[in-house]
Amino acid sequence: MRMSKMHLKTLREAPKEADLVSHKLLVRANLIRKLAAGIYGFMPLGWRSVRKIEQIVREEMDRIGGQEIHMPHVNPAELWKESGRWYAYGPELWRIQDRGGRDFILNPTCEEVFTDIVRSEVSSYRELPMTLYHIQFKYRDEARPRYGLMRSREFIMKDAYSFDRDPEGLDESYMAEWGAYERMFTRCGLNFRVVEADNGPIGGSRSHEFSALSDVGESELAFCTECDYAATIERAECTDDAPVVEEMEELKEVFTPGTKTIEDVCNYLELPVEKSIKALMFVTYDDDLNPAEYVAAFVRGDRQLNMIKLVNALGIPEHYIEFADEDAMGAVTGCVGGFTGPVGLKNCRIVVDSELVGTVNMCAGANKEDHHQTGVCYGRDYVGDIVTDIKVLAEGDRCPRCGKPIKHSRGIEVGQIFKLGTKYSDSMNAMYKDEQGNDCVYHMGCYGVGVTRTLQAVIEQNNDEHGIIWPVSVAPYEVIVTVVNPADETQMGLAASIEEELEKKGIEVLVDDRDERPGVKFKDADLIGIPVRITVGKLAGEDKVEYKLRRESDMNVMASADAVQAAVDLVLAERFGM
Ligand code: ATP
Ligand code: MG
Repeated sequence: MRMSKMHLKTLREAPKEADLVSHKLLVRANLIRKLAAGIYGFMPLGWRSVRKIEQIVREEMDRIGGQEIHMPHVNPAELWKESGRWYAYGPELWRIQDRGGRDFILNPTCEEVFTDIVRSEVSSYRELPMTLYHIQFKYRDEARPRYGLMRSREFIMKDAYSFDRDPEGLDESYMAEWGAYERMFTRCGLNFRVVEADNGPIGGSRSHEFSALSDVGESELAFCTECDYAATIERAECTDDAPVVEEMEELKEVFTPGTKTIEDVCNYLELPVEKSIKALMFVTYDDDLNPAEYVAAFVRGDRQLNMIKLVNALGIPEHYIEFADEDAMGAVTGCVGGFTGPVGLKNCRIVVDSELVGTVNMCAGANKEDHHQTGVCYGRDYVGDIVTDIKVLAEGDRCPRCGKPIKHSRGIEVGQIFKLGTKYSDSMNAMYKDEQGNDCVYHMGCYGVGVTRTLQAVIEQNNDEHGIIWPVSVAPYEVIVTVVNPADETQMGLAASIEEELEKKGIEVLVDDRDERPGVKFKDADLIGIPVRITVGKLAGEDKVEYKLRRESDMNVMASADAVQAAVDLVLAERFGM
């Protein structure tokens, strides 16, 4: 490809709204083009890299026996009502209507569609196990689309669905996908980690995230400094501290004027924070988004509430809950903003963190302005309607596996795999017949890869102050031949023959034959990050060129044939990506 004929509009400056290096580079290198918030188009170089990532994903899916199909982006609402997700998915679900007023959605994911295919087209155990997948645009009306392709409203996802006879079969399908994901992200050049994850609105019993390590990632990860335990913060299980054994004291009301926070009251009463109970008040909603009930959640004063664990404990989707207006709630439950405690609360669901079970002589709000209670004992003074782990595994806490200290880090979730079990086959009545002719439900798994988010994660991990440093496997072109003076026939002649030699070997070549200053060409080559640069300049008459890798600073002068050979060797060795 000759750059004089190519559409490429690189920019010196990034748009103001771009915070991440990768977002800036996507725009500056003219890979993407914004149309609306979270809605992007892909320009020639960007689209080539997208297609390469798709191809890697496809090859690894096919390797484990996945079959590619292609389903519509528009789904009838009926399917989603059948699974219940028309209600449960929430405001991210992009709803549309046709001219007749019939409801449709733009796919955010496709469990319903794939379950529907299998329930109507597959009938016998003989056809199992089966994995179907497609790679298509997905739509999620995200509350805060941001960071370019990281959190967009239209994005490309590969989603696969496995159908097995039993849990053992599902285990095998799940592990096969796991292996495929390790290969595909390795091939894309990502430094990633597999962590245990929460199932979220997709549902099911077990899940893992593939997280590209990055300080700017939106996933917060907890990992052990000793063993290989790693999980998202949402998911990470906590080990409860054993309650301190003490004589139970009397329940006492104490005057604690103006002490609305845990720190205030503990300072005032000279108590360690671990001797206090933190209260958080919520209201939940039903399917029609009418208020359903009040919820009071209690954790030890030094702990943080984990919202995902709380909604899981309540069995509701995340968007069915929000912080309560304490005045409105107080009128019904007796709580008092800043002074709420578990003793004597009424008309609300009390969720107690498991660590509070057995604790004695704690300090909590007295449900009375400017007052707390001391001597609060679990069991004697209050109990939970729900008692479970609802806290965050904090840095320095004990690893749930080995007890060593936990550390936090961040990552970009590029893929997630789920064991769904029978959630969708039950709700959508998807059955096959076994050897005896009995109807049995499918055991399903689903497996997503964010293709466009992966593209940006690769850039986030592979760049320097000059631009992108593409791994060969996903680079839009593999080699760039920069011609210092295209008006010079010798230089252009040599560049053309290098181009031809490389193309004969199947290498993807860009030739920068633009009428621009050499400095501009070098800057652009660095910005767009092509792995190998061959510069044809003054030494063309001697058949010599400069050979340079984007990821290295050294430049070597060599005979053009040697440069071609070096480029071919490098590209062929690295193109597969592992
Ligand atoms: P997140 O927690 O980041 O919102 P998710 O867990 O809701 O993502 P999944 O339903 O697991 O996402 O979707 C599969 C993959 O699709 C994700 O691992 C991610 O790589 C990608 N993805 C999800 N939402 C977006 C988005 N808004 N923009 C770009 N990629 C996305
Ligand atoms: Mg996910």
